[in-house]
Amino acid sequence: MPNYLMALDQGTTSSRCILFDANGNIVASAAHEFPQYFPREGWVEHDPMEIWSSQIGVASEALLKTGATWRDVRAIGITNQRETTIVWDKKTGAPVYRAIVWQCRRTAERCEELREKGYADKIREKTGLLPDPYFSATKLEWIFKNVPGALDRAKRGELCFGTVDCWLLWKLTGGRVHATDVSNASRTMLFNIRTLDWDEELLDLFGVPRSVLPTVLPSSGLFGYADPDVLGAGIPITGVAGDQQAALFGEGCHTPGTLKNTYGTGGFLLLNTGESPVFQDKGLVTTVAWQIGDRVKYAIEGSVFVCGSAIQWLRDQLGLIKNAAESEKLARKVEDTGGVYLVPAFTGLGAPYWDPTARGLLIGITRATNRNHIVRATLESMAYQTDEMIRLMETVTGNAIPELKVDGGASANRFLLEFQADLSGIPVVRPACIESTAFGAAALAGIGIGLYKSEKEVAQLISEDTRIEPTKDAAWRKEKTDAWERAVKRSLSWSYGK
Ligand code: ADP
Repeated sequence: MPNYLMALDQGTTSSRCILFDANGNIVASAAHEFPQYFPREGWVEHDPMEIWSSQIGVASEALLKTGATWRDVRAIGITNQRETTIVWDKKTGAPVYRAIVWQCRRTAERCEELREKGYADKIREKTGLLPDPYFSATKLEWIFKNVPGALDRAKRGELCFGTVDCWLLWKLTGGRVHATDVSNASRTMLFNIRTLDWDEELLDLFGVPRSVLPTVLPSSGLFGYADPDVLGAGIPITGVAGDQQAALFGEGCHTPGTLKNTYGTGGFLLLNTGESPVFQDKGLVTTVAWQIGDRVKYAIEGSVFVCGSAIQWLRDQLGLIKNAAESEKLARKVEDTGGVYLVPAFTGLGAPYWDPTARGLLIGITRATNRNHIVRATLESMAYQTDEMIRLMETVTGNAIPELKVDGGASANRFLLEFQADLSGIPVVRPACIESTAFGAAALAGIGIGLYKSEKEVAQLISEDTRIEPTKDAAWRKEKTDAWERAVKRSLSWSYGK
């Protein structure tokens, strides 16, 4: 009996594949970074074919490591960088343009216009989101306005739009399935999270023909079968969720009031709010967490655009560290940052500021500032941004957050977790498997084929590895966060009119 669950985890900087056994243990994994394109200031693109080839490559590689064959894979779960927008030809499969990545700021002016024209409330009421270049709608609109012939072809029903999950699903099924799941759809700004359908009024607003849109399905259940010519066996694809929602699921945050933070390329704090969406105007977004059967769970989310990628910036642009892990060693060489703060607003700021014109800022530098201080300030910036989200969630829900579950690449950094616990005054808990995103996708796929009967059964597979208690008092925390807020204020509205 084949018994592996294969998670395809298509991230912003790398494509990964992890094979799990039925007990949720990692059997094998493989990962590949793929190229990032920055054609202009603030623009970020991926090549959809490179996304696909790197993803299929790591899937084969992971399988090879186990000595198993495709027939040993019982089901596939897909999880992905969200919002990233791809349009391709239905017949040939050729993308009409590169993937416009979630980080891309090219539609900042359009979003400003939407705000000025008073669309923010309507967009929030329908989608739970706010007008920001982050979400797919204005990226799709941009493609239709700027790629010659694209809109006409779309109107003739010749093109497909999809987020990365949808693109992978289409490729895996040999072009037979054009579908997405509710969690990914809820990030497009075209999807009504109350009616769980594409919204006519928003499609009109962004000039999107309905024919380009994928079918929206629950996150767990049969999406389709892999084409044996593509994968080597007709494996069922039975789980799909956006990376942050999959991580929420994979961390076992299945009940209202539980939350997790992922320190990945970006930082994402999600709080499960149960079966009804909680709308607010404090700068968090409301989103679908997942749907299993006819039960939909919602979350509120604080999205931080630059988190672990600030560490990559230290490595690649500044050359201050050789690798990400070295950041911890250097940060511990100094007692504090010596008053230095880094606001990594490299692509503007997300929650709660939503300012696409904010830019990065390093402040508090003195003649005594050295490399270690800057590295430490970079790590601390990840905790400050997360802390702002935690406090906002407490304000919005009126409940104190008892503890923070963490995952993502940078959660391997113990210094960061210690600083986070001190700053937020709550315990920080890391699971034994920090690949929560991939595990979440595998678990959704497992439920989809009936391997697991319930969320409870999935939760039993998750175990705690590290628990870090806070050690600082409220006065220390206030001094730190006050200074951080002053630094952030100075980074806002910087590149206006550029
Ligand atoms: P994603 O899925 O968004 O591509 P990951 O969860 O794999 O990202 O996390 C990768 C990020 O984590 C990178 O930006 C990297 O710089 C950062 N990172 C990895 N290891 C460490 C570490 N030990 N300390 C700090 N940051 C780290």
